[in-house]
Amino acid sequence: MAVSTIMMQKPSWAGEPLRRQWPLLFEASRRKNKTVADALDDDHWLTDLRGRVSPQLLLDFVALRQVVRGCNIDPQVEDIFRWKSASGVYSASSAYALQFDGSAKSPLRHIWPAWAPPKCKFFMWLLLQRRVFTADRLLRFRMPNQYFCALCRRNLETPAHLFAECPWSREVWERSAFSLSYPAIRAPDADDLALSWAVSKLAGTDRRAASLTILVAWELWRERNRRVFCNKELSVSGLVHLIADEANSWVLAGARHLVRRE
Ligand SMILES: [Zn+2]
Repeated sequence: MAVSTIMMQKPSWAGEPLRRQWPLLFEASRRKNKTVADALDDDHWLTDLRGRVSPQLLLDFVALRQVVRGCNIDPQVEDIFRWKSASGVYSASSAYALQFDGSAKSPLRHIWPAWAPPKCKFFMWLLLQRRVFTADRLLRFRMPNQYFCALCRRNLETPAHLFAECPWSREVWERSAFSLSYPAIRAPDADDLALSWAVSKLAGTDRRAASLTILVAWELWRERNRRVFCNKELSVSGLVHLIADEANSWVLAGARHLVRRE
């Protein structure tokens, strides 16, 4: 195809460069760098096609021919470069956004904008990938483990159990929601997967829910470690008080959005 994809007088049709819309024609063209004006001059782009004509190539040819005929292009106007963005004008932010064009968006991206100390966000990042060293993971690596959940001592300790299904944890979630006057962080529903539930809290626009979800999960993990490694434990009430104190510390450290609104 003789129509250059970047030297164009008008934005590309349907938002796509011609070479992407008609790749067979582009491949068949001998003059791939011609400007639109040169290509349209005396229909030169037709004579630049070479090679065997397949049925698909013929269909593409007819389609492009119709597009070209429908365009009112003034050969006196110089071609211009257009940046691939809605405005057609280059900006640093549009160049940054272009890097992620077509890439899959991970739910983990919701963690980093939330307000929380970096160590807590890093812990959440591991938790959402089920990479914290709960008993099930230790078992998989044949490492020493206590098998049972350190909080309720009833079930195999998995991330889903420890942070969502465990009755002890659920009581902490419920009472923390009451203590912090914030029902949005109540325990996940029984049929919710722990991790998708946590992601939904982080992904929302509620900054307070995102921070407090990280805080409660982090303190549950610390309580679990206190029991496993230090052989000490807090009661549910003790941990709920600790979470409230920690929330106040986060406020003093700059998390003003955590200030209680009565
Ligand atoms: Zn448990």
